[in-house]
Amino acid sequence: MAASLIDGKAFAERVRAKVADHVTRLREEHGLVPGLAVVLVGEDPASQVYVRSKGKQTVEAGMASFEHKLAADTSEAELLDLIAKLNADTKVHGILVQLPLPSHLNSDLVINSIDPAKDVDGFHISNVGLLGTGQKSMVPCTPLGCLMMLRDYHGSLSGMNAVVVGRSNIVGKPMAQLLLGESCTVTIAHSRTRDLPEVCRRADILVAAVGRPQMIPGDWVKPGATVIDVGINRIEGEGGKTRLVGDVDFDSCAAVAGAITPVPGGVGPMTIACLLANTVTACCRANGLAEPEGLTA
Ligand code: NDP
Repeated sequence: MAASLIDGKAFAERVRAKVADHVTRLREEHGLVPGLAVVLVGEDPASQVYVRSKGKQTVEAGMASFEHKLAADTSEAELLDLIAKLNADTKVHGILVQLPLPSHLNSDLVINSIDPAKDVDGFHISNVGLLGTGQKSMVPCTPLGCLMMLRDYHGSLSGMNAVVVGRSNIVGKPMAQLLLGESCTVTIAHSRTRDLPEVCRRADILVAAVGRPQMIPGDWVKPGATVIDVGINRIEGEGGKTRLVGDVDFDSCAAVAGAITPVPGGVGPMTIACLLANTVTACCRANGLAEPEGLTA
């Protein structure tokens, strides 16, 4: 392997330590405890695991965690009523509604009912607009984590060619906006992109957010490029056991790239760390206090 490994697990630990430091300062100097409310509707097993993990890490960072578990047949009116209460609750600085929601609920309507200042996922239409126009916003956690690692590795990203494969609202599009904000020349590729291998080969920074196991091979990667693998795919491994792989073929890409994030242990751990960071940022903004440095875009 020629590439340097970008260790997201270690980086996430540093972010969490910074968050915990800031939480201590907020408590000691201002009597404030940042609070994160997580709302889970239904019993999707993967969502239950994520919500547990978010709650645990929130408490470990010294913050208050409020979990709201609602039945799968909760009505839209009931969910909107809960969000209105959380919007008004001064102990709650961040609100996250775990997606996907059951199909009878309108996700856009629900997300857009969250107070944008408490929208720590950064999915509210106001935050999307603020990010798109280069204004201060709440930034979606996964792309924020990718940006932090890229800045840490490269310093300035100005002038670099960045290719983002995937155009989802939660990863691809905000990632592209953030890279544009860093003065990269950005290409967004998707399932209809012509000659994807050639597009990828132009990238100094290649971000894969596709959801297809090991889709990008090493010969799509420019020698020396930085590869950020957002994908989390479970595939069958040896002896019938499952294992996690990313959207890039790690071994062949690592042989060509200059730096690469592994799966697991790359982007994944950064996502929850950035959720905690966003909650602290939201708490500081709500109270007119200086935001912690290095924890926002
Ligand atoms: P989506 O399914 O919402 O979007 C996938 C994108 O990939 C779409 O824009 C789609 O194009 C594009 N795509 C699909 N197939 C191809 C192809 N053959 N060639 C080029 N582009 C293609 O996924 P998400 O953005 O939600 O997630 C992407 C990956 O990131 C998943 O593996 C997911 O598990 C992972 N993820 C990881 C997180 C983390 O914490 N590390 C957080 C969130 C997601 P089109 O729009 O044309 O259909």
